[in-house]
Amino acid sequence: MEGGEGVGRTPDPSRKVFGRAAVVTRGGLPEDVVASVERNALLNALRHDGKAEVGAVISKVIGDYPELRTSAKEVTRAVEERVREVNAMTVENQRALLRERYPEADIAPREREEGRIGLPPLPNVKGALAFRLPPEPSGFMHIGHGMAFTINSVYAERYNGKLWLRFEDTNPRKVEPRYYESFREGSRWLGIKWDYEKSVSSDLEILYEYGQKLLSEGNAYACGCDEAKVKKLRFSGTACEHRGQSFEKNLEIWNGMISKKYGEGEYVIRVRGEMKSLDYSLRDPNIFRVIEHPHPLTGSRYSIWPTYDFEVVVEDELCKITHVLRSSEFHLELQELIRTLLAFQPVTVLQFSRFNFKGTPVSKRLLRPLVEKKLVGGWDDPRMPTIEGVKRRGILPESIKQFTLQVGYTKTEHEYDWSLLFAVNRKLLDPLSKRLMFVPDPIALHVKDAPSKEARIPYHPEKDLGSRTIETSGFFFVPNLDALGMKPGTVVRLIELYNVQVLGKKANLITAQFHSAEVIQDIPKIQWVTDLKTKLKVLEPGPLYNEDGSVNRKSLVTTKGLVEESFRDLSLGQIIQFLRYGFCRVDSRDTCVLAHK
Ligand SMILES: [Zn+2]
Repeated sequence: MEGGEGVGRTPDPSRKVFGRAAVVTRGGLPEDVVASVERNALLNALRHDGKAEVGAVISKVIGDYPELRTSAKEVTRAVEERVREVNAMTVENQRALLRERYPEADIAPREREEGRIGLPPLPNVKGALAFRLPPEPSGFMHIGHGMAFTINSVYAERYNGKLWLRFEDTNPRKVEPRYYESFREGSRWLGIKWDYEKSVSSDLEILYEYGQKLLSEGNAYACGCDEAKVKKLRFSGTACEHRGQSFEKNLEIWNGMISKKYGEGEYVIRVRGEMKSLDYSLRDPNIFRVIEHPHPLTGSRYSIWPTYDFEVVVEDELCKITHVLRSSEFHLELQELIRTLLAFQPVTVLQFSRFNFKGTPVSKRLLRPLVEKKLVGGWDDPRMPTIEGVKRRGILPESIKQFTLQVGYTKTEHEYDWSLLFAVNRKLLDPLSKRLMFVPDPIALHVKDAPSKEARIPYHPEKDLGSRTIETSGFFFVPNLDALGMKPGTVVRLIELYNVQVLGKKANLITAQFHSAEVIQDIPKIQWVTDLKTKLKVLEPGPLYNEDGSVNRKSLVTTKGLVEESFRDLSLGQIIQFLRYGFCRVDSRDTCVLAHK
């Protein structure tokens, strides 16, 4: 506990404060109040991306000590001071300090139990709630989608709400059938259960009705200007001649668009926004356009397609969505305008920043060229941030969920370090993974006077994951890297076997002498295999992009080595730990992928 000395004051224990005899510390407040200030500042900061809010902390402290209401000034000063200090700390340090000083204080005891750390309560939770997962099936599902979907799914569960999987498939040029399936499969893999599913392309006629409503009420118009002209006029905030045309004329063109009298680029429907708005998205943007391209679900039946900002507002109304939790990259103001013009129910929108990972962008713009130029093995390459990629790498779905709940949702744009996700994954994998021995870059080891043994070695030091028996004579292979340190006289332990003393080393062979059986502390412990039978390649994925934004040409390292024979008993997809090497997923009969150390 920080004492009065710490802040340059002389404590005066005899002084009565707020009617109680107390140890007086910082700002003339009793010690327990100061503790409450600190505890609440830390708790509040941890709930809000490391930034505590003075007002919220004050009300918590006053809640703990109602008698302080008459001393708001002192409390405010103490809170302001402590919040400033707490906010200057890293989140890790805030968490550490909270644990150290207030172990009884939990970030949210009930929520922690239920695995909901990091997701604050939602506002406006009256009545039946509904949420949605709104993928555009124009690419494969990636970990960023997975995290955003997890947030929605956790809230839907928490509030007993309904969850929609809704494909925003209104650009037939971009959508492909395989992408729909990627989102279904990826969501299932993550354990997300949705109540309803639909494709917006199946609602086109309803969307047309709402478009027609805007046209008839004079809130939208058909514009025949070419793209360059529209761009220029929007830039200067000037209306084109079509903005003032009669609604009869607008409807006539609209019907012409529907009956395919007009082709792509001839006319668009624009919503009547505000041509001089500082928000450019409000300067009469398109809400319908002709796209002459077959759609994977509706074929060539329709050629007028709504824009995202229009359809999403209508669809949220149709699905009775109450809460929208999504990454902050869309035109909120414009959607609000459309919602108001159509007199729809309001929705609560909460935005979080996109989930980005260091060195591994999720954007298709950056990933597609890597696939096209064959710099990666495909969309499911273990270096890729796609769900297929991270799955192949050995990341558990539960790790993605826990990681999402830990980082919660934040508004500040930043890149996550993979190591944070790996730490969660490691913790989950540790009790589940068999330990096996893989010897990278092997070198032969001959042990003289070695007892012949049938070593029964458990697959896990603590958990009962079974065991295997390995027959040993005196011939082994050990990692070359370890051999470098084996000077004559060195004693090393062959893991789970016995200790040997190095006699000498020739180019491709180390000779050693049997030393002893019992474990000796503080000597190198080395993994081994007994023969050359089972060869293995391990792929070690790294970041796809360098920090300067250039493509990392060395993003995949292949390590060749030998593995113990029991490797053959593993199933494809199984994740194991190679002792002294790392957690790996069995990718094929002779290949593993390193998840992480
Ligand atoms: Zn025009």
